[in-house]
Amino acid sequence: MNAEDKILNGKEVSVKIKETLKNKISFLKAKKVIPHLAVIIVGDDPASKLYVASKVKTFKKMDCLSSTFEFSKDCNSNQIKDLIKKLNNDNSIHGILVQLPLPKHINEQEILISINYFKDVDGFHPTNQGFLMQGNPTFIPCTPLGCIKTIDYYGIETNGKNVVVIGRSNIVGKPIASLLSQNKKFGNATVTLCHSKTKNLSSFTLNADIIVAAVGVPHLIKSNMVKNGVHIIDVGINRIEDLSSKKGYKVVGDVDFEDVKEKCGSITPVPGGIGIMTVTMLLHNTVKAAENLSN
Ligand code: NAP
Repeated sequence: MNAEDKILNGKEVSVKIKETLKNKISFLKAKKVIPHLAVIIVGDDPASKLYVASKVKTFKKMDCLSSTFEFSKDCNSNQIKDLIKKLNNDNSIHGILVQLPLPKHINEQEILISINYFKDVDGFHPTNQGFLMQGNPTFIPCTPLGCIKTIDYYGIETNGKNVVVIGRSNIVGKPIASLLSQNKKFGNATVTLCHSKTKNLSSFTLNADIIVAAVGVPHLIKSNMVKNGVHIIDVGINRIEDLSSKKGYKVVGDVDFEDVKEKCGSITPVPGGIGIMTVTMLLHNTVKAAENLSN
């Protein structure tokens, strides 16, 4: 493989998936259904606002609808739950997403549970997480789904392989570990789930055929921690100081890309990898919700 062949390009995969989605959206339109996402954002965290703006832009480009509902950071849970109740009962809304993280005084779980799980396009509702754990997923959380679609597109074999997932969050690490270990086409891997209490992380990563890094620690994974030919899915999105850039920072992954690129079989870049896929998967899940709810 030459260097370019090694890059698992999120944009390329997204373009292909969007082509299929376009047909589904046209089919829905013919039935007078336009996939419509409601996004709830609390507070004024710049990163959250940026993520929401990119989701809104993608929906617009694909001729789908999105409505954004903003709350101030000192609002209370009941105000958010009242809105969710209205959105749950609004037939023109197919997907409801609450941008995380929420301010500390708001119980995240209580808010997520109040979403009708047929409209839970983020896949964070405990019912949908339960279906996923049982091997019958309804809505797969967008980032893990983006990882699986990338693995699928590039034909990376998972069957019988050793996979190390680093990070055990409910939204990335746990669902991807579950999906890759299930008896399914892009599963059947032997999965080890590592986290901050894992002793000697390298002893696990050195044995991995595939590494999924979802940690939030810039450049945690170095070349001396991986074996030749490993496939790397880097989910991390971290800002580090970069005085040469206008913004004063740059975005990097959990894997030291420059250090590992010669050694690995393939790798998702950051940016340009799983981040793009995550937004595309939100569209995918919302179209699916619109199809389900309109039938
Ligand atoms: P999170 O909830 O903070 O979870 C991080 C996980 O990493 C935890 O399980 C933690 O262990 C583990 N960890 C922390 N330091 C570690 C270390 N030194 N060694 C091994 N494990 C360690 O984060 P998250 O929401 O899953 O997100 C992870 C990363 O993915 C972040 O950079 C985030 O920005 C990015 N992300 C990207 C996308 C995308 O679209 N590409 C989407 C979501 C998240 P403990 O459980 O023991 O604390």
